[in-house]
Amino acid sequence: MKILFLGTAAAEGIPAMFCNCEFCNQVRKSGPSEFRTRSQVYIDDCLSVDFSPEAYSHSLRFGINFSSMKYVFVTHSHMDHFYAHDFILRGYKYAELEDEKLEIFGNEEVKKVFDECTLREMRGIVLKNIKMNVIEPFQDFYAGEYRIITLPANHNKNENCLLFYIERNGKGYLHLYDTHGLSEKALNFLAEKGVKAQAVSFDCTFMESKTNSDARHMGIYDVLTLKERLFKLNITDNRTFNVITHFSHNGRPSRARLEEFEKKYGITAAYDGLGLEI
Ligand SMILES: [Zn+2]
Ligand SMILES: [Zn+2]
Ligand SMILES: [Zn+2]
Repeated sequence: MKILFLGTAAAEGIPAMFCNCEFCNQVRKSGPSEFRTRSQVYIDDCLSVDFSPEAYSHSLRFGINFSSMKYVFVTHSHMDHFYAHDFILRGYKYAELEDEKLEIFGNEEVKKVFDECTLREMRGIVLKNIKMNVIEPFQDFYAGEYRIITLPANHNKNENCLLFYIERNGKGYLHLYDTHGLSEKALNFLAEKGVKAQAVSFDCTFMESKTNSDARHMGIYDVLTLKERLFKLNITDNRTFNVITHFSHNGRPSRARLEEFEKKYGITAAYDGLGLEI
């Protein structure tokens, strides 16, 4: 399984569009190697986890042709994770597709966002090739060759925010963007299912800041606690890639600072364009 981390920032991006802080100004001077865009992870050139406003710029920067994309798994409806407007361009005179059918999977709110954002410009000829599937936490199903397990995120109480375990040919990736830890029920569900993850991504929005129990994201100390729990439950092992991501400008996540994190905490720090093969 090929996993590409295309977008590794929190909602505001790095540099943040409207921000005049010292860190964002420094990043503007440093150039693209320090830039971080909104959430998207792309697997095997066909499965996207989230589809952010930067999907188009990801296609430019990393030479990706999204005509082969068959599945989009959306964690939740926040705009940095699901930018539905672009789907009006998937067909008609705008695109010749490698595979006509696209399936989007998300919660009820994601479906609403899709309907709202495509209301004005969607053509029937484009819409007929897009299937919107409403899903919930604690499901275990197949999308083509991919086994998908859904888990509840601790993120926003107004919707069923989701996390995903994605497996193909016995290799698994656990996607934990936008959550504050995992509930015992979710951890036990993974363990009971016999999940073995060769790669895990962890929300590390807050870097070294401590969080309280109602936080919607994690810092490195929450990540280390969760990493340990996953290891103890045999969901991960010593060879698992543990990757931190979804950084905010507030934590000043420069590449140099994150290299220090890698050494100090024994973890991999994602950047836009990081690729893993499991
Ligand atoms: Zn987010
Ligand atoms: Zn800033
Ligand atoms: Zn969010």
